[in-house]
Amino acid sequence: MAFDKASVRDAEVKGRRVLVRVDFNVPLTDGEVTDDTRIRAALPTIELLRERGAALVLVSHLGRPKGEPDPALSMAPVAKRLGELLGTEVKLAPGVIEGDVDLTCGALGPGDVLLLENVRFEPGETKNDRKLAENLAQLASVYVNDAFGAAHRAHASTAGVADYLPAYAGLLLEREVTELERVVSSPQRPLAVVLGGAKVSDKVGVIDRFLEVADKVLIGGAMCFGFFKAQGIETGNSLVEGVELAGEALERAKQSDCELVLPTDLVLGREFSAETERKESDGVEVPEGWMGLDIGPRTANAYAEAIGEAGTVLWNGPMGAFELEPFSAGTRQVAQAVAAAPGTTVVGGGDSVAALNRFGLEDQVDWVSTGGGASLELLEGKKLPGVEALLDAGEETADA
Ligand code: ADP
Ligand code: MG
Repeated sequence: MAFDKASVRDAEVKGRRVLVRVDFNVPLTDGEVTDDTRIRAALPTIELLRERGAALVLVSHLGRPKGEPDPALSMAPVAKRLGELLGTEVKLAPGVIEGDVDLTCGALGPGDVLLLENVRFEPGETKNDRKLAENLAQLASVYVNDAFGAAHRAHASTAGVADYLPAYAGLLLEREVTELERVVSSPQRPLAVVLGGAKVSDKVGVIDRFLEVADKVLIGGAMCFGFFKAQGIETGNSLVEGVELAGEALERAKQSDCELVLPTDLVLGREFSAETERKESDGVEVPEGWMGLDIGPRTANAYAEAIGEAGTVLWNGPMGAFELEPFSAGTRQVAQAVAAAPGTTVVGGGDSVAALNRFGLEDQVDWVSTGGGASLELLEGKKLPGVEALLDAGEETADA
């Protein structure tokens, strides 16, 4: 299915103020942005709008403030980094609503960029409060959503605001939806899906969908222990979640043409630490006092081989506790296999992307998704509120 929402490319923006929802939810350490991937991902839309003579009002959330200002989660470091990337001054408004913004906003000329303060400082944001959405809409005459990473949330700045302004898809959002939808709707076969990580309950839902559309689903990370437990296998102190759902998935897999593949060996540690005692185990029983922290070498080889044979590869979730060097080999080998794969490769999930970056492989995959939760919901077949709220393609002339 082609992307069927109105694109920013077709918006009439010259001389107008455009409110752009971006996903600048980036990691910070000591008031510095430590990974600017998400900021760079929004640059094409920002540049396009500036070139076309729009004045930009950017809005994003950062972290999880509790509906009130939290200086540690100010957008100030983001404004600084964005300014460096654009080579222009990016002003920071102290808030997101009228009064906080209007003066600064009124002075914005074509090509100027104003970043609003963290929108989640407003309690109405996550409640999709109408008043807040209306206030945001008053700052501009066109709305563009480029925040794919937040598109699975029906919040004031991601969905509500679209009720008050002509709403367009940003370039990143459009590309994300197009690339991810292609994986499930018309993949080159065989389609191999590699799932891992720790957010098991979030991810088990997506397995159902993949059992229908994929040829192989390869499970690693903490995710495998729900499956082992469901089969009555000892899991020791491993992180176990979603046992019931995993059991259902195992049942469903028997009826499906898709092969559900689990690890056959593991790397164990005493505790979640780089200094802990480590041992490789041939087999997947985890003895008392140990936890599984990586897939074993035999499993990693098998997964790498399946990845190399696939026409399309989707990878979401590290194969182990890759942040800890002694338990990073499985994730590294999978990442390298994905990078070297001749098929189309798509990687999603914050930590999986961090792993790719850590191994210096991010340029060797076809699409790196900036949205973890949003990409999973889209792949699951759910509608994303931030996408649904946009004008349909062809509707733009009527509203603009
Ligand atoms: P992503 O962000 O790519 O979607 P998740 O957030 O689901 O991935 O999971 C990433 C985390 O999973 C990493 O911090 C990693 O340490 C952890 N993890 C992976 N395998 C294991 C395991 N066997 N035991 C404990 N934690 C694990
Ligand atoms: Mg994560």
